[in-house]
Amino acid sequence: MIEVGVNGYGTIGKRVADAIRAQPDMAVAGVAKTSPNFEAKVALERGYSLYAADGERTDAFDEAGFELAGAVDELVAESDVIVDATPSGIGAENAELYREHGTPAIFQGGEDPDVAEVSFTARASYEAARGADTARVVSCNTTGLSRLFAPIVEEYGIEKARITLVRRGGDPGQTDRGPINDTLPDPVEIPSHHGPDLNTVFPDLDVDTMGMKVPATLMHTHSVNVTLASDADAESVRELLEAESRLFVLPPELDIDGAGKLKEFAQDAGRPRGDCWENCIWGDSITVEGRDLYLFQAIHQEADVVPENVDAVRAVADTADREESTTLTEDALGLDG
Ligand code: NAD
Repeated sequence: MIEVGVNGYGTIGKRVADAIRAQPDMAVAGVAKTSPNFEAKVALERGYSLYAADGERTDAFDEAGFELAGAVDELVAESDVIVDATPSGIGAENAELYREHGTPAIFQGGEDPDVAEVSFTARASYEAARGADTARVVSCNTTGLSRLFAPIVEEYGIEKARITLVRRGGDPGQTDRGPINDTLPDPVEIPSHHGPDLNTVFPDLDVDTMGMKVPATLMHTHSVNVTLASDADAESVRELLEAESRLFVLPPELDIDGAGKLKEFAQDAGRPRGDCWENCIWGDSITVEGRDLYLFQAIHQEADVVPENVDAVRAVADTADREESTTLTEDALGLDG
């Protein structure tokens, strides 16, 4: 059993903890939080040992009546692997703690790439992370693009990729985010940071990205244009993408027009929290003109990095190869497209 500690139990951390618990070869050593909020209450109800991320704020947990198992350094010492899912920038501050204890650590996409030895996606960089001390699961958007591009690079090669990322303003619980009535170029600078981040996974990829933010909370939507390095037709591209377990090519008969219905579909199917772990690609949008491939995909930002975190744990623990790990992860989650 790989004992996994989760430091930072918010949007990503709570999903990763549940996904770890579902694995046959992993257990959750505990979860660490800074504040005794509703997520801390549910963590205890789910039977997770709760640790204080900030040793000076244990009084707040006592006052809320939340029993602590200890402080975060104890969790780090007891864990075989730590998943750091703290807010952007905090992971880098925590890196020294993990090093001191010799505990391999998985960081998230809000951190700069140099926080870890490897920028991780299960499809494209699993082997590079095997036995590493640190790996960074790339952001939700970079994960979605990496999963899409890995098979395309292998099958056709990519001459040039251009992506417009229409990004949700904030997650559903982020009441302080926006915009609430506007459409923003964000960032205004081109390329947006997504292209360089994608290059941490595919160093040779020629890619330009443009970002926007819109008043939506459910998902990101990508408008993708790829000039392929060799000839293809839409049907062969569709078949290639359909063969990938973490790409869900939406058939038109499902009548799913956007993120709202995708979430509804996931909820109806019994997915925890209505999570869509796969990229959701509109099958009808897959179009090839000459060597230019076009498509739309939706990315559930809260969910797509979750199976990747599980695989990153096995990669740094070096207990399985890519095929074994992704199969285990998907079987345990019920990720069957
Ligand atoms: P979040 O704010 O929902 O959760 C962070 C959690 O960490 C909270 O529970 C917070 O109380 C806790 N925390 C704060 N300071 C801490 C500290 N010093 N030590 C331990 N815990 C602390 O954030 P999130 O959305 O889950 O994001 C976590 C990471 O995942 C970030 O790097 C982010 O960029 C990345 N990420 C987020 C999303 C997303 O859409 N939310 C998608 C992919 C990647």
